[in-house]
Amino acid sequence: GAASSGGLVAYADSNSDDVVGKPQGPPKKKIVVLGTGWGGTTFLRNLDSRLYDVQVISPRNYFAFTPLLPSVTCGTVEPRSVVEPIRRILEKKGGDIKFWEAECFKIDSSNKKIHCRSNIGTNLDGNGEFLVDYDYLVIAVGARSNTFNTPGVEENCFFLKEVEDAQKIRRNVMDCFERASLPYLDEEERKKNLHFVVVGGGPTGVEFAAELHDFVTEDLSKLYPSIQHLVKISLIEAADHILTMFDKRITEFAEDKFGRDGIDVKTGYKVVKVAKDAITMQNPATGDIAVPYGMAVWSTGIGTRPFISEFMKQIGQGKRRVLATDEWLRVRECDGVYAVGDCATINQRRVMDDISEIFRVADKDNSGTLTVKEIQDVLDDIYVRYPQVELYLKSRQMNGIADLVRTAKGDAEKESVELNIEEFKKALSLVDSQVKNLPATAQVASQQGQYLARCFNKMKDAEENPEGPIRIRGEGRHRFRPFRYRHLGQFAPLGGEQTAAQLPGDWISIGHSTQWLWYSVYATKQISWRTRALVISDWSRRFIFGRDSSC
Ligand code: FAD
Ligand code: MG
Ligand code: MG
Ligand code: MG
Ligand code: MG
Repeated sequence: GAASSGGLVAYADSNSDDVVGKPQGPPKKKIVVLGTGWGGTTFLRNLDSRLYDVQVISPRNYFAFTPLLPSVTCGTVEPRSVVEPIRRILEKKGGDIKFWEAECFKIDSSNKKIHCRSNIGTNLDGNGEFLVDYDYLVIAVGARSNTFNTPGVEENCFFLKEVEDAQKIRRNVMDCFERASLPYLDEEERKKNLHFVVVGGGPTGVEFAAELHDFVTEDLSKLYPSIQHLVKISLIEAADHILTMFDKRITEFAEDKFGRDGIDVKTGYKVVKVAKDAITMQNPATGDIAVPYGMAVWSTGIGTRPFISEFMKQIGQGKRRVLATDEWLRVRECDGVYAVGDCATINQRRVMDDISEIFRVADKDNSGTLTVKEIQDVLDDIYVRYPQVELYLKSRQMNGIADLVRTAKGDAEKESVELNIEEFKKALSLVDSQVKNLPATAQVASQQGQYLARCFNKMKDAEENPEGPIRIRGEGRHRFRPFRYRHLGQFAPLGGEQTAAQLPGDWISIGHSTQWLWYSVYATKQISWRTRALVISDWSRRFIFGRDSSC
């Protein structure tokens, strides 16, 4: 708005009409965004692009709504309904954001440059490579599928990560059915072709298995009546249960339902090899078992992209598995570089590392002991900087810090307890156990993209008031609050128009009504009215005519 844009003039686009005649300010800072997935796209949609010179680089010129990819594998939803061209998203913003369809293959953070390569065209050197300068770099390149170097996976398994993957799966499911129908096969060979193996009992593997089961029972059984009894779906999971990230009630319900549906859930089995026609799994009790299969979908684990690993070595993170940022999503020791989503993880600062400093700051009267009041005075700062403290109190059903202090003292009655440093350490000794890595989900990536955009939108303000509104004890002052994740719940579609949901406050809901909640949430979350209309019409078409089996 006009009121808050007092400082905007200097930063306004020097090509646009409204600054003609006004003094021109310093050139806009350059932001380069890598990736057009959940993290990158949410960042771009929330960024005030008038303030910066923005360039976007991604090998994909569209955003993909990944939660609906499992539905694409069986034709419940069409591929074009889950993608939105990035240029359309940028055009809606009105600014002049540039997009290059290319892949970054090297980050040179000491010179603030990135090396890119286009796969669709070549330059005069004949290689399609180019350099881009940045002032700020937002890395949002996501992760790759991880085979954990299991032999044969790369060559023989399907993955479910991109839209193309879902389309390939769909085609191959139909190929398996047509192959199994050929006149010259014997029963064993038909069976083998109709054995579908899903590796990985996480949300994606489970949803795919459920979707495939529905497709087979609701649609394909009518079209392939003579072979439908030969179909088998196996779900292999190395842990003791599937959906381990969900509440036990959901896990149990899912395992029971799959059991009734005839999906063979093999928990405690690790896949050790995938050959052309047999998949070998291992269990301490049974040893190695090799089973023939027609199609295998590998849906377990994600890993770091090679050029990010290379970058991590350069900046001294070579020993880590995932690129680390601080709680402000800044890549440490790397000026102007930020990372969001699946390609990064937040290194949450531990209370125990700062405990003496926290004590010193809180002990205002330098008495060498802390009163409940003294602790309470710094508590808001502590909560902001160390969210694990609040989580810990909640998990212990403690009503604030006074409870903690009294518990530490073993004296629940007395009001005027005081803690010395050793007692203070003891009271907080377990809080860091509440530090957890955030899950690799769209929800996390998009919240981080939004958070970062808001920081960038306020950056100029913050530069003028470096003290900022937020003070965090123990490490000086920061301009912004650290990123804080808000978990809004998670769905696990289980097939047969039934879904399980775990909502905030451990609210569990399972069944047909939850499926309707799922439909409405995913219709609402669509990135545009166009994809919303397409998705809803796909669902309706499926309800009326069933899924399409021609491909
Ligand atoms: P991505 O969305 O993967 O985006 C990465 C972007 O970077 C892409 O545009 C890619 O093309 C680009 N890129 C790659 N390499 C380069 C490079 N070298 N240079 C430049 N750009 C590059 N999460 C949920 O919360 N709920 C769900 O129901 C859910 N369902 C899922 C179902 C499936 C089948 C899958 C695969 C994932 C699902 N997820 C879900 C997880 C969610 O999709 C990811 O956590 C999310 O996409 C992460 O966002 P991101 O921006 O980090 O990465
Ligand atoms: Mg992204
Ligand atoms: Mg995505
Ligand atoms: Mg992450
Ligand atoms: Mg004191």
